Amino acid sequence: VKQLKGLAASPGIALGPAFVYRPVELAAQRLGADDPAAEWARFQLAAAAALEQLALLRQKAVAEVGEAEAAIFDAHQMIIGDPDTETELRTEIDGGASAAAAVDIVFSREVKNFETMDNPLFRERAADFADVRRRLLRALLGVSEDSLAVLDRPVVVVAHDLMPSDTAQMNKAMVRGFCTAAGGPLSHTAILARNLGLPAVVGAGEGVMAIENEAPIIVDGAGGLIVIGANDEERADYERRAQALAEARATVAVAAHEAAITRDGRRVEVVANIGLPGEETDALQAGAEGIGLLRTEFLFVDRQTAPTEDEQFRAYRPIFEAMGQRPVIARTLDIGGDKPLAFLSVPHEANPFLGWRAIRIGLAQPELLKTQLRALLRAGRGCNLKIMFPMVATVEEMRAARALVEESRAELKLSGEPLAESVEIGMMVEIPSAALMIDLLAPYADFFSIGSNDLTQYTLAADRGNPAVASLVDSLHPAVLRLVDNVIRAAHAAQRRVGMCGEMAGDLNAIPILLGLGLDEFSMGAAAVPPAKALLRQLSLAAATALARKALAQPTAAAVRETVKRWLADERQHSP
Ligand code: PEP
Ligand code: MG
Repeated sequence: VKQLKGLAASPGIALGPAFVYRPVELAAQRLGADDPAAEWARFQLAAAAALEQLALLRQKAVAEVGEAEAAIFDAHQMIIGDPDTETELRTEIDGGASAAAAVDIVFSREVKNFETMDNPLFRERAADFADVRRRLLRALLGVSEDSLAVLDRPVVVVAHDLMPSDTAQMNKAMVRGFCTAAGGPLSHTAILARNLGLPAVVGAGEGVMAIENEAPIIVDGAGGLIVIGANDEERADYERRAQALAEARATVAVAAHEAAITRDGRRVEVVANIGLPGEETDALQAGAEGIGLLRTEFLFVDRQTAPTEDEQFRAYRPIFEAMGQRPVIARTLDIGGDKPLAFLSVPHEANPFLGWRAIRIGLAQPELLKTQLRALLRAGRGCNLKIMFPMVATVEEMRAARALVEESRAELKLSGEPLAESVEIGMMVEIPSAALMIDLLAPYADFFSIGSNDLTQYTLAADRGNPAVASLVDSLHPAVLRLVDNVIRAAHAAQRRVGMCGEMAGDLNAIPILLGLGLDEFSMGAAAVPPAKALLRQLSLAAATALARKALAQPTAAAVRETVKRWLADERQHSP
């Protein structure tokens, strides 16, 4: 038996014959084209064909997976129509490149640019440019589409990486799971797999491509494991586990719309994190009681100018309309430093995570932040809007941020715009300084939401995106738990509710501890909502409180994990 270890991208177990996907390598030659006008015309024909294909793929994606998935094809259409890219193509063609060579040069350069960025979200953009490059080259070289569209039997797809157009044309009814050599947990394949509820392992290394076509393989999505050549007994074991998982998923889905109330009557709120228009639908379907984190970065990346107030209003309003009276916590722009904005010239920084980002940018460029605040206040009218500021480190920042909300409100009133009344203003607690002075921040924050992802990286001084220190970035570290404990106690003493919107809130091993520490609201990706609610219903607050005390006293993250594991096994045994 051979096992390949990768990253756990989407849970579940898939068994089946491997379908090894090798897209044809498209080589563009002819650097010495002699008629630039003819090459330019050729490019424009190819671009028109590509845009038409993308429009069709978009329709297919909307029908099959929903708006969020389809949005990627809008991005591809924008890449093709981008005036800067066109200028670069023209320069290459005027310099003697064929249309195909120009496309190859310009798009390969963009791919390289994005691949070297620090932020994983931006590195994923490389895949979009690679995808558009291939589409244009196929059109220019007269090569037809690849083979994923014609899958006619259930398979596990094995690939170096999957691009949005690969997965869009793929016959998904025949796909049991994925494994890829490249990609991270934020990659397109990983997100798609989670949305489709298919098991997936990504970033398993080039060994993946040595898997033979048709070889029976097993993908253990939660374990991040690919098993090749299992014997009958092992296969049967995995089949049983797959069956049990499917049954468990069906069971928790049935109760997804019921409240999360512990055995001893404590009710907590389970809400969703969303980051793209359309995801509110997934959140509602999964039984989320509101949105605990609306990441608004999607509106700001990949563009040359800041989005206008109206444009933002149009993006936010449908989300509020869909959520009705359920709470929606909109987080203002959390970008900068490692997530550069094309329309803001952020100078290179040696330590972007400690640099000019999030609320620091918003306060330095108040018009940028106020435009967003006005759009949110307008979009949230008649709904349950709450506004939250990211990366707050000091009291001054909260004072200044609140003042900007008041200014924005006053400006809207002057213009007679209808707007949301009595909006709670809160802040993320994701910097240790904030976690240590909740009592002093409480006068300026109506609620708190713990950003455990950043709080963990800042507490342990370990970059959350650097694989070399990945073992340190564990939110169950006792130091992080002690800060979380501090935050919840201090906030409750000041009569403030505390949520958590970092990944930890949806982690089934962390949930019992967080419940025991007194967390009021758990916010997580939509798919995590049904199992989190099911677990909460099995627990008792009294027992979880005892567990939390014990966890706080452990010396290491590993010891905390071991403590929870034992406790959960024990609780499950004794729960009715
Ligand atoms: C966090 O830091 O935990 C968080 C939710 O914010 P983000 O992951 O967007 O930085
Ligand atoms: Mg954060």
